Amino acid sequence: MAKSYYKICVLPGDGIGPEVTAEAIKVLRATGLEFEFLIREVGGSSYLKNGDSFPKEAREACEMADAVLFGAVGHDYAPYDIPRRVLDYLRREKDTYVNLRPMKLYPKIECPLKLPEGRGIDVVVVRENTEGESVKQSGVVGDRVGSDMRIITRFGSQRLIRFAFEYARSHRRRKVTCVDMSQLLSGDKLFREVFDEVAEWYPDIEKDYRAVDVAAMHLVSNIESFDIIVTSNLYGDVLSGILCGLIGGVGMAPSACIGDRFAYFEPVHGTAWDIAGKGIANPIAEILSAKLMLEWLREEEAAENIEQAVTMILEEGKVRTPDIGGTSTTSEVGDAIARKVEELSKR
Ligand code: ATP
Repeated sequence: MAKSYYKICVLPGDGIGPEVTAEAIKVLRATGLEFEFLIREVGGSSYLKNGDSFPKEAREACEMADAVLFGAVGHDYAPYDIPRRVLDYLRREKDTYVNLRPMKLYPKIECPLKLPEGRGIDVVVVRENTEGESVKQSGVVGDRVGSDMRIITRFGSQRLIRFAFEYARSHRRRKVTCVDMSQLLSGDKLFREVFDEVAEWYPDIEKDYRAVDVAAMHLVSNIESFDIIVTSNLYGDVLSGILCGLIGGVGMAPSACIGDRFAYFEPVHGTAWDIAGKGIANPIAEILSAKLMLEWLREEEAAENIEQAVTMILEEGKVRTPDIGGTSTTSEVGDAIARKVEELSKR
């Protein structure tokens, strides 16, 4: 049941993280719901300042919050895995095994595909987030051979695929497509087997299959054939990369990392240091991630108001950042969406 007051831990992180999370906070405040934001430093900037990329206060705030809103972490001046310590906690320790990436083409966003009149893009990628290629044992052998471990388990596949079918049901979606390389790889063979078992429990949802290379081709040549894609870690990353290219770039792509009792919400993009501090980062991916957070908190009406507001602002076409063909600043976009959300929530 939805609550009337939420504690949200905000981890802005590095690069454009602080700029885009600030706009998402603005928009959340405009929903009329009551929030307390616990804003904590993490990542490379925190490491350089405090000698710790994931301070105790940040962990405590995550533990006491109803949900976590995340920006991005990574810093040229801090060794690669140090800023990422926070991700070990958010993904592995909190076991957020689903990476949900709804990929939608919004009005007046240029798409490199020639879509039939009146057709859009609305594909949801449900990607495994804790196993596959992201297991820790990966390693490189000598200087001539590189090898990486990839693990796919029955347990991990079953809970992920089940999530995909449950999501299909609760969001009135028609089909789940299993993407794998089961003709070649044994982990994928298991994934496909589990897919078939789970699909049996959902006779109301159509099941479909695609080899990953064919899926990549069809995302460009036959995108209407997809509704929800369920897949392993790396394939999900690559396929959502293609989708980002079709919906206006990473600045338009939100995500949710969901476990059984914990979830955090972050844009698909990373730190984007090349544009950090310039005030031109597109905050929509982060704002839509905040919308996913409200859905997860079962605040469907407020979530829908954010969705409507983003759609209306893009439809009006006056306020947009340079990555999607405009000249507005990050905060002008955040302000416009927040104003629209406020109007919608007063209706
Ligand atoms: P990381 O190493 O943290 O993943 P990155 O810069 O390598 O960061 P992204 O952050 O995903 O990767 O950025 C890829 C490209 O997309 C960059 O050129 C960046 O400027 C652009 N970009 C990313 N996010 C946004 C955004 N919100 N608005 C506009 N451009 C963006």
